[in-house]
Order: sequence, then C-alpha cells, then structure tokens
Amino acid sequence: MKRFILILVILIANNATGSAQQKANPKDTEAWTPVPKIVQAPKNALSAPDDAIILFGGDHMDQWLTAKDQSPAKWTVANGEFTVKKGTGNIQTKRSFLNYQMHIEWKIPTNITGSGQARGNSGVFLGSTGNGDEGYELQVLDSYTNTTYSNGQAGSIYKQFIPLVNASRKPGEWQSYDIIWTAPTFYENGTLKSAARVTVLHNGLLIQNNIELRGETVYTGPPFYKKHGPLPIKLQDHGDPSEPISFRNIWIREL
Ligand code: MG
Repeated sequence: MKRFILILVILIANNATGSAQQKANPKDTEAWTPVPKIVQAPKNALSAPDDAIILFGGDHMDQWLTAKDQSPAKWTVANGEFTVKKGTGNIQTKRSFLNYQMHIEWKIPTNITGSGQARGNSGVFLGSTGNGDEGYELQVLDSYTNTTYSNGQAGSIYKQFIPLVNASRKPGEWQSYDIIWTAPTFYENGTLKSAARVTVLHNGLLIQNNIELRGETVYTGPPFYKKHGPLPIKLQDHGDPSEPISFRNIWIREL
C-alpha cells in the first residue's frame, strides 16, 4: 500500500510538472511595452542625434555662463570651437542635469608648454556644486607624453579613479569624451542613498567602466558627498600658465 501511494504521488507530481510546462508559452516572457522612442541616429558617430540638446554647435556660447557671476561666458569662439580665455574663470551650462549621455571634444594646442598638472589642464565637471572647482571632475590634460600622478592624468576621475588605458592623442589633434553619468541620490536628511556612477570613453576607448564615485572631487583630503539635485556641467579655466585648450561639438541627452 505504501509503495502504491508513493508511486501515485510521483505520478501526480510528474503530471503537475508536465502540465506547467505545457502551459508555459514563450510569449509569456515577451515585453511589448513601453515601445522605445525612435531617435534618428547620426550617420557619423560624433554628430548629435536628433534628441540631443546642443551645448555647443560651433557658433555661439548661448548655453554657457561664467560660473562665478552667471554673466555670459567670455571664452573665445572661432572656427567652430571655443577656447579657454585664461583668467575669465570656469564656465557652466545654463541648464542643470541629472542623468545623461554627453559627447564633448577637446584639443590641446600644438604649442603646449609646461609639464605635469601644468600642461593643458582643464576639466569637465560632470556636476558642478560651486563656482570654483567644486563638483565631480573628469580630468582634461595633455597626457600624450606627460608624466603626472595616474589618478590626475587625462581621463581620470580626479584623485579617485585612474583611467583603464591612456588613449591620449598628441597635441593639436581633436579628442573626445563620451560620458554616461548617473547622478547620486540622497535621503531627505542629506545622507547618501546611491553613489554617482560614470562610464567614459576616451577617443572611443573605454577608460572608466561604470565606476562608483567616492564623492565630489577634492584637491586635498578624501572625497565626500553633500546633498544636491540637478546640477550644471562646468568646464575648468585652470590657473596654470600653459596654453589654453579648446572645445567643440558638445551635446547631451538627458536620460
Ligand atoms: Mg583639471
């Protein structure tokens, strides 16, 4: 009798499994909504797609302000690019952003001088929390043949993350950063809920792979977080005396 019940239980169990398999349908795991919005992808990977906000298209700096006093940006526009005007200070976007994809091109001048951190230093602050050098800095520097600390060379998240490779081109050649930024989130009381994350391609090569930032960039001492919402993006007018660097073709897609 016991044996009969055991066989019966096995038969019922087998049958149940069989019917569950029969009921399963490949369509059950198909998701048909939402339908991704159609975006016209550019023919050239460097061009802006049609859903991008153009931060600099070559003609004017209408999307940029002088960081320290919010006056119009005073950097020099010529030949489809703009160049740091030393002493006029950092510039920042008029708009603020949370999560985004951004493309930006930059060029170290052929006649660059100086060494280490004083050779083509600028920076892309992925979120600016003040009008000086506060925020999260992706370093811009001539790192073609220029020795400095690794977490301060081009492509570093300054003083936090060394780039995976040195993809630098020589002075005089245009270079690109493609950036995917996820802003940090905070609890009501100001403590960190989720860290900022960033992925960066330098001249098409992956140099920062979805890293979690330890906080805002700090020159001296450890990084830290302080609560903020959407932030402008800022470009650095570094105080070093080397030749100023240029930017062009800047666009952003909010995510
Ligand atoms: Mg810098």
